[in-house]
Amino acid sequence: MGRRVTKRRKSKFLNNKKFLIIEGILILLILFFSFGGIFLSYKINEMDKEYSLLKSKYKRLFNQYENQKKEFEQGHDITTVEDIDKSIEETKNKYFQNIKTLEDNILAGKSDKKIAYLTFDDGPYYNTYQVLDILDQYHVKATFFTISMNGEYCFDNKSENCFALYKEYVKRGHTIANHTYTHAIRGGLYNSVDSFMDAVVRQEEHIKNQTGGYITNILRFPGGSAQAKGLKDPITDKLREKGYGWVDWTAQDGDGKGIASWDEGWNIFTSSINDNIEVVLFHDYNRITTEILPSAITYLQENGYQIYPLFYDSHVIQK
Ligand SMILES: [Zn+2]
Repeated sequence: MGRRVTKRRKSKFLNNKKFLIIEGILILLILFFSFGGIFLSYKINEMDKEYSLLKSKYKRLFNQYENQKKEFEQGHDITTVEDIDKSIEETKNKYFQNIKTLEDNILAGKSDKKIAYLTFDDGPYYNTYQVLDILDQYHVKATFFTISMNGEYCFDNKSENCFALYKEYVKRGHTIANHTYTHAIRGGLYNSVDSFMDAVVRQEEHIKNQTGGYITNILRFPGGSAQAKGLKDPITDKLREKGYGWVDWTAQDGDGKGIASWDEGWNIFTSSINDNIEVVLFHDYNRITTEILPSAITYLQENGYQIYPLFYDSHVIQK
């Protein structure tokens, strides 16, 4: 039956040339579009692949560019000495800001931590090298209240240059502070505000010259602020004008007055540690102090103290 229908339809078409042409065109069109469609979708697929490849290649190149840019900028940032100084200064400031916050919290009763500032007066001496090595060994930073009356060659070892220690303080990350150039308590230092300030400026210049630019803004009166008597307030005014603050001490091992033995120094030291924030007075010329130092650091740490170098904004620095 199906055969007959086809036959009939076929004969109908065959009999009509017009239909034949239209049929031919239609078939061609269908063929054209279906092949064209296949070809187009193949082409689109190819282009898609190419596009993804290009996209990932671009992404890779872009990342490479970004990395190179970053490297260049970082490299560029530290191409000058000024940039290095600036970066160190920023890190130092941040470090001191954190200690200041800790001080705030301790003083407000919000933290049960404690702080000890170790300070060494009257150096540099040759013995200072040993002090520095002990501090390094315990990863502790301290403050050195320096003078220069002893001269270039070490008072305790004349064959060694002690002024070289100024650079060493900086290199090892300690704070250099001013203890006046002369330390002449009985030699006219406290005669007048001017005589005192002259010795301050002289030491300030000396520190700057020996270190290549270190600016100090912390001072300790030789013999303590009480030595200045009636000049204490006018000197403090002058110091403030020059951007200085000053500090006495709250703890010590008694080495300034001369201790006879390790035990004596140790007893004075341990009985002087009782505040949440302590400023410990030591002298870097004193051999007994140098011997006590490792135990003193351990004692402080075991009693909850964190040991830091002094900085201008600290609460213990009077302004
Ligand atoms: Zn002193």
